Amino acid sequence: MSADFVASGAARRHPSRQVRVGSVAVGGGAPIVVQSMTNTDTADAIATAIQIAELARAGSELVRITVNNEDAAAAVPAIREQLARMSVDVPLVGDFHYNGHRLLAQFPECARLLDKYRINPGNVGAGQKKDAQFAEIVELACRHDKPVRIGVNWGSLDQSVLARIMDQNAKSHAPLDAGAVMREALVVSALESAAKAEEVGLGRDKIILSAKVSSVQDLIAVYRMLAARSDYPLHLGLTEAGMGSKGIVASTAALAVLLQEGIGDTIRVSLTPEPGGSRAQEVIVAQQILQSMGLRAFSPMVTACPGCGRTSSSFFQELAQSVQQHIREKMPDWKLNYDGVENMTLAVMGCVVNGPGESRHANIGISLPGNGESPAAPVFIDGEKAVTLRGERIAEEFVALVDDYVARKYLRKL
Ligand code: SF4
Repeated sequence: MSADFVASGAARRHPSRQVRVGSVAVGGGAPIVVQSMTNTDTADAIATAIQIAELARAGSELVRITVNNEDAAAAVPAIREQLARMSVDVPLVGDFHYNGHRLLAQFPECARLLDKYRINPGNVGAGQKKDAQFAEIVELACRHDKPVRIGVNWGSLDQSVLARIMDQNAKSHAPLDAGAVMREALVVSALESAAKAEEVGLGRDKIILSAKVSSVQDLIAVYRMLAARSDYPLHLGLTEAGMGSKGIVASTAALAVLLQEGIGDTIRVSLTPEPGGSRAQEVIVAQQILQSMGLRAFSPMVTACPGCGRTSSSFFQELAQSVQQHIREKMPDWKLNYDGVENMTLAVMGCVVNGPGESRHANIGISLPGNGESPAAPVFIDGEKAVTLRGERIAEEFVALVDDYVARKYLRKL
């Protein structure tokens, strides 16, 4: 169990086995891993490598790329080379549907350079070919010593499993409703596929499971079932979560319930980016979910009040934004040189009502003057009032105090 999880006081983790994906440990008590997926054409090695680097630098600890055709499979070595030139060594996951058995066999360098294969049991082939093609992919994973995620999705659920479960349900004395039958089929598809992979020879320590749906309540129900019936590490994510606040809220609602119950070893937030928006937003949201729940720390947290009629100017909103921006810009350097800085807490508050109290709870906090208050902004450091800022340069002076605090408190001891 990870130390940061124990510190959170949350429920015990689902006791999963550990799977190594390249340099990253998933499950078995390791910190919950943040992952993401590119949306570039994988055959465009440069564009894909640039986006992988963007995701990795934002904090994605695994990055998945689609390997949908021969051009994509052939591009994997060039993607790896380009990443090496950019000093990025994040583990890569190949997402395979329909033709994975053929691509992995025909492009052995692709098979060797990927760190994990994702197989969707509903998309490995039709009819009698299904089992043979599934076995071929698993054999290739064994040959290249790679872990596999068996990733079921309700949009592509194995119809033969669904038909069998429906048939059994129809004969049952207490038949389940249609939703429960679908959830059972998802879980059975994942577990039976994992059992088949083990029969083919894949180690139990090489299998991760997921069973994604796009409804919050169904996702919670399905993962509770998976966690109760197996000890494979679980990849958690609400599929097709959507765009903007809808996608963020739905993903958070689903993941938070499961993570609080100790279910989930790696997470992905499937956001549709705004046109022109950064793909890395899904990484930031995943980190914020984990950090808000006290499960991991990635970056200092800024507590800011929402503002109200006591603050007639936008000054404190701008200060909160500039502090957040400053942290984002400084973090790459801080991470290298300052131990534990990601645990730092800051407060930027709008007036005397909650300002001093909230600021005292933070490592460093400022309480700005609201309407009718004297134009002074007390700064609190480790619970004590340290200085009062006045005048036009409050923002610059507060940011300088933050930098000074980081340098004094977190400087790496050699
Ligand atoms: S701290 Fe002050 S300004 Fe901020 S929301 Fe509360 S009362 Fe309003």
